[in-house]
Amino acid sequence: MPDLTIPSDLHPRDGRFGSGPSKVRPEALAELARIGDGVLGTSHRKDPVRNQVARLQDGLRALFRSPAGYDVLLTVGGATAFWESLAFGFVERRSRHYRFGEFSGKFTAVTAKAPWLDDPDVVDAEPGTRPELSAAPGCDVQALTHNETSTGVAQDIARVDDALVAVDATSGAGGLPVDLADTDVYYFSLQKGFASDGGLTVAFVSPDAAERFGRIAASDRYIPTFLDLTTALDNSRKNQTYNTPSVATLILAAEQVDWMLGRFGDLDGVVAHQREKAEVIYGWAADRSWAAPFVRDPSARSRMVATIDLDEQVNADEVNATLRANGIVDTDGYRKLGRNQLRIAMFPAIDTEDLRAYTACVDWVAERLAR
Ligand SMILES: *Cc1c(COP(=O)(O)O)cnc(C)c1O
Repeated sequence: MPDLTIPSDLHPRDGRFGSGPSKVRPEALAELARIGDGVLGTSHRKDPVRNQVARLQDGLRALFRSPAGYDVLLTVGGATAFWESLAFGFVERRSRHYRFGEFSGKFTAVTAKAPWLDDPDVVDAEPGTRPELSAAPGCDVQALTHNETSTGVAQDIARVDDALVAVDATSGAGGLPVDLADTDVYYFSLQKGFASDGGLTVAFVSPDAAERFGRIAASDRYIPTFLDLTTALDNSRKNQTYNTPSVATLILAAEQVDWMLGRFGDLDGVVAHQREKAEVIYGWAADRSWAAPFVRDPSARSRMVATIDLDEQVNADEVNATLRANGIVDTDGYRKLGRNQLRIAMFPAIDTEDLRAYTACVDWVAERLAR
C-alpha cells in the first residue's frame, strides 16, 4: 500500500469522525479545564458537583422539552450496565426486542440470560434494514433502539401497544427526533451525540416507569444495589449518583447540551441541522460510482451515523489506514458486520464543513488506491 500524504488544504479542521467515543469539542475541553479546577476532586455530595448534575439535568429537560413528571436519571456504568438494570428492575416478565444489529442484539442477549424473565420475544431484521414495530401481546416492555450504531439504521419511536417503551438512544439522542411522551425510559451514554466521555448513563423516566421500578424493587426479586433503578432515581432527584461519577464526563456533557441549546434552540433545531449534514455524506456517496449508502431505504438512514459501502475497486481498510496516517480517524465499518464499508459519525459536535472535507479526502485517497 502506498504511503500517501493528503494535501493539507483538503484536511478537515478536526479529524475525529468516530461513532463512539466521538469528537469532544476543544472549546468544551477548555471549559472543563477552566471550571473543572474547582470541581474535580471534590465531593459529589456537595454543591459544586451537584450543581453540575443539575445543570446537565435541566439542560437536557430543556433540549428535549421533557414532559411534566419525567425524571432525568443519572447513573454510573454506561448503556451496557443499564441493560442489566432494566433486566433486573424494569422488565416484569417478558420484553419485546427489535434486533437489527450489534447493540440491539446485546440487550436482547441480556434479557435472554436472565433466569427470572421469560425468554424475550424477538423481531429480527437484516443488518441495514429496520424492523417494523408491532404489538407484542404478553410483553410488558417494548425495547427499541433509536440508532443502531453498528449499521447506521435509525428506528422511529412510537407506542404500539400498552407495554412500557424503553429506548436505547445511545447514539441517537440529541440528533434524532423523539417525543419523549412516546417513551418510558429513554436512555443513553454521553460519549456519542453528547460529545463527552464514557462511563455515565442518562435516562428520561416516565411516571409509569418510575412506578414500575418501585413495584419491582419492592417485590421479592433479587436486585444488586448498584443496578437498582429506585436507588438511582432517588439519588438523581437529589442531583447525585449512587456511587462516584466521572465529573469530567458530567461537565463535558453539560457544556455540550448548553452549546446545543445556544446554537439550535431545542432538539427540533438540532434535528434540522442533522438532516443537512447527513445530506452531505449520503449525497456524496450517491454521486460516486464506487460508493453507495449501505442502508437502501432513505427513511431508515441514520442522521447520526452514516454507513457507506465501497465497491471492490476501493478497499475500505486501506482507505481508513491512509486516513488514519493523515490524522483522520475512526471511520472503520463495524467489525462484525464485515463489509467493505466506511462508517462516519455526524454527531452534532461534528461540523458540516469537516464532513465535506472528509469526503474530499476520501475522494483523493480513493483515486490513488483504486485498482
Ligand atoms: C455505544 C452504544 C452502547 C454501549 O454504550 P456504553 O456506554 O459503551 O455501554 C449501547 N447501545 C448503543 C446503541 C450504542 O451505540
